[in-house]
Amino acid sequence: MTATISWQTVYKDAITQLANFESPEVDARRLVEAAAGIEPSEFHSTLNSQPTTRAMAHFDQMLARRCQGEPLQYVVGRWAFRELDLLVDKRVLIPRPETEILVGHAITETNRLSAPTVLDLGTGTGAIALSVAFECPHSQVIAADISEDALAVARANLAGIGKAATRVTLLQGDWFNALDPSLPAEIDLGEIDLIVSNPPYIANHETLPDVVANHEPSLALRAGDDGTEHLRHIVTGSRSWLKPSGVVLLEMAPHQISQLSDHAQASGFSTEIHPDLAGHDRILICRL
Ligand code: GLN
Repeated sequence: MTATISWQTVYKDAITQLANFESPEVDARRLVEAAAGIEPSEFHSTLNSQPTTRAMAHFDQMLARRCQGEPLQYVVGRWAFRELDLLVDKRVLIPRPETEILVGHAITETNRLSAPTVLDLGTGTGAIALSVAFECPHSQVIAADISEDALAVARANLAGIGKAATRVTLLQGDWFNALDPSLPAEIDLGEIDLIVSNPPYIANHETLPDVVANHEPSLALRAGDDGTEHLRHIVTGSRSWLKPSGVVLLEMAPHQISQLSDHAQASGFSTEIHPDLAGHDRILICRL
């Protein structure tokens, strides 16, 4: 019979095994929480208890994946985004903290309106669309993605937001083609209040860290030779779908923002630039 070990021992041992990664303590802690099925607040009180055989097997399997370099978020399969706990796996981009800021602006804009229709283009996990629906109970939200795989993840996440899910419609298609009037969609040209998107904005020549490049879907990351292709397409295409006072909110790389701001102004929008948590210009708000 094997000696019983505590979560404390398992945790410390994992930190040692993960020593070559960026944040071994955080990784090891998240793996313990996932395997033990506990909330972060229960972590310290759990350390003195013993893992079940089943929890230990789950832990070992997750630790092995993490040691191979797979992102922690995919290994644990869930990630917190604002008020939601989202399912994440290799079919979708892992939601980032800067996107939480983008959603904060989208919610401020949404709350200014009485019965707003919000469109999230390239929804991935559904992070943006589902957060707006969840945090703005008066909103109707449409979420589109070209990837059926991504939509399957968004659909699973939609099932996790309770009653708010009744106000969300998921559509498949390439940007605005998802709204093609010939499809059985609910909306028409000129009926959208807000368009929000965190589209792929990495140029083909830009290098990404291995943990990103080797695991996250390149369809969700890479835009083309320039990087601004999708951003420009969304700005240009937005005009005909927006109400006369409509707003577009976009996340992008700091070096793209002045160029996109010029493009939006040439398309008839007035623009505002907002920073991310690191203080870099990251969010462009375009108003008609
Ligand atoms: N909208 C999703 C997010 O912000 C996915 C974005 C993407 O795949 N480029 O996390």
